[in-house]
Amino acid sequence: MTGTDRPWLDPALGTEERVEALLAVMTLEEKVGQTHQVANITPDDEDAIRSGAVSSSLYASGATAGNERDEGMLVANIDAAQRLAVEESRLGIPLLFGRDVIHGHRTVFPIPLGMAAAFDEELAEECARVAAAEATLEGVAWTFAPMMDVSEEPRWGRVAESLGEQPVLAGRLAAGMVRGFQGEDLTDRRRLASCAKHYVGYGLSTGGRDYNTVSVGENTLRNLHLRPFRDAVRAGVTTVMAAFNDVDGTPMHAHRRLLREVLKDEWGFDGVVVADWGGVGQLVRQGVAGDLRDAARLAIEAGVDLDMCSDAYTAHLADLVHSGEVEESLLDEAVRRVLRLKVRLGLFEHPYAGDLEGSPAPTDATRALARRAAQAAHVLVKNDGVLPLDPSGEGRVLLSGGFVDEGDALLGTWVLDGRGEEVVSPADALRARFGEASGTPFGERLDVLDGRFPDQVLELARRATTAVLLLGEHRGRSGEDRCVTDIGLPPGQLDVLRHVVALGTPVVAVVYTGRPLDLTEVLDLAAAVVVVWHPGVEAGSALADVLVGDVEPHGRLPMTFPLSVGHLPTSTHQRPTGRPIPVERDRFEGRYVDALTHSRLPFGYGLSYTTVEYGEPTVEPATTPVDGGRATVRVTVSNTGSRPCRELVQVYAHDPVADVTRPEVELVAWRSVELAPGESREVEVEVSAVDFAYTGRDLTERVDSGEIVLLTGPDSATLRRTTLTLA
Ligand code: BGC
Repeated sequence: MTGTDRPWLDPALGTEERVEALLAVMTLEEKVGQTHQVANITPDDEDAIRSGAVSSSLYASGATAGNERDEGMLVANIDAAQRLAVEESRLGIPLLFGRDVIHGHRTVFPIPLGMAAAFDEELAEECARVAAAEATLEGVAWTFAPMMDVSEEPRWGRVAESLGEQPVLAGRLAAGMVRGFQGEDLTDRRRLASCAKHYVGYGLSTGGRDYNTVSVGENTLRNLHLRPFRDAVRAGVTTVMAAFNDVDGTPMHAHRRLLREVLKDEWGFDGVVVADWGGVGQLVRQGVAGDLRDAARLAIEAGVDLDMCSDAYTAHLADLVHSGEVEESLLDEAVRRVLRLKVRLGLFEHPYAGDLEGSPAPTDATRALARRAAQAAHVLVKNDGVLPLDPSGEGRVLLSGGFVDEGDALLGTWVLDGRGEEVVSPADALRARFGEASGTPFGERLDVLDGRFPDQVLELARRATTAVLLLGEHRGRSGEDRCVTDIGLPPGQLDVLRHVVALGTPVVAVVYTGRPLDLTEVLDLAAAVVVVWHPGVEAGSALADVLVGDVEPHGRLPMTFPLSVGHLPTSTHQRPTGRPIPVERDRFEGRYVDALTHSRLPFGYGLSYTTVEYGEPTVEPATTPVDGGRATVRVTVSNTGSRPCRELVQVYAHDPVADVTRPEVELVAWRSVELAPGESREVEVEVSAVDFAYTGRDLTERVDSGEIVLLTGPDSATLRRTTLTLA
């Protein structure tokens, strides 16, 4: 075909016109090809690409896939495959290369749960922008992020990839990430298409076992789990990934109601629904499809547009259309969505990445951003005054534990391209800081010892004034398919802590983790505890910044920490029962005869190196229209200590009389303020009537007139109330 025969190549035409022009000339086989995604492209795929039978590749992404480490390999391979599609296939439709760029590409940022600790959508946006700018240099056009599965189950390894347990936090951060990845204009060659995943309910995997079944009603889905997805769709996310789980017996890859009727029809999502890895084929094992052909039929009917790696569509869709079992219009709709994305990305104009200039390696600027994000991932949860450390003071500090010289272990779960050797280790950063501060070799005040030799650790701990122990999980213990039944520290770590404490040496416990842990004994024994999610490439620098107080700790917990594994689930999702548990009588009227029921550390919790007091909140006006009304919550917050701080003022809501049971507390808004020592400030937080919208029994969204209890404070368990009336 000549250029004029190919109107879809004309950028002057509108997207829909180009898509329709292409669809009109495609054979059935070529259409099916646009619904087929492969993993890595191998020489065996070359003919299939030439014949138009491959739409996309996720280029060796995936939990179990290998990694291309050689500089330039990724882009060279991607461009070579692209050339076959663009120059040697009949219609020249470019391939779409996806990759799991989850929390950074080469500049690795904290895991998403660590990013959530910052409660900062602009930071999330900026990190996503940097990740996109790096990944596009290597030929990647699409990332499978953000993940926004509302997560309340610490046994489930994938909480590390989530944005925490509160829907408004997850939704706002996800929207920030979508903006950061995609930008204003997706044809910008340094931006990526993004993917809201995993739709939906995956965070409820029964027993915290990955890929497990989910029993949940649509009301809870709508009031919790669907909300961040709707926020991402509103922010313009271009793709959504179906989840591995079923919802009340219907696997999500066959869930016509949630995919087609809610996401596509009700919300007007016009992007691509992509299967998760092998998700279409798994309908057979889930027991709703007799074979792969049946699975393909169910998935295309449900609204899955692109089949990731199960080969069901490529093997059976054409035949299903020929036999009349699947309407060709269903296939057309899927193809339209995939082509629309390729046009929106500008792939027809710029299919190759090799001509882009620049290196994806971390720069000073991207490291500075990663450091800022990593600082916010440090959540101080206990301090009896031992922190901050004074590097120029008296005494000796011992730095020990399993992570002192680590790089790779601190990168976090989803790292295909980051490099352990590019991580600033805790030992390097603290040596530098102690050396600078004292003007003497660091060795005079700081001992560093790998935690593998407990006897030597004890020896050095005996003469130390303070011991900093780096405890917690290796990154390989969290993430996909990394579930646990024991949410305590990994074996052996508590022993070291107990022994050091028994010597009388105050311990600062730094806990690296991908999930909320049972920190009961750590909190009892250590003088200070800092929970740090896996922090990424600037791990050591951020740790040093926080420990010596160059930066005031300001992260807040984005998930509840339970008292024990037996208390799961414990979260802010608790709705009132007919027999509430009075706080003061928890021990007698609680639901356990052997334990209390509250959390160990509540959602939103985090300390500073100073003390902060909250006054009584007020709201003005006290009555606002149910339709479009707004109000301002005001609270005086005072820094009553001797150091500055960055305080996160949090506003939660409770709807005391509603059509369905509503959570005891739900985060609606927050505001971060800097306070100098001794400073008091009246902080204002805006709320809108629509913040109190929820889905009622008839599954439609409503805002009721009546009272809303607004709860303001430093975390979800330390709150003062005021009342707003919606009229
Ligand atoms: C995961 C997805 C991921 C996909 C592609 C799957 O196993 O569930 O989150 O994006 O693999 O790598």
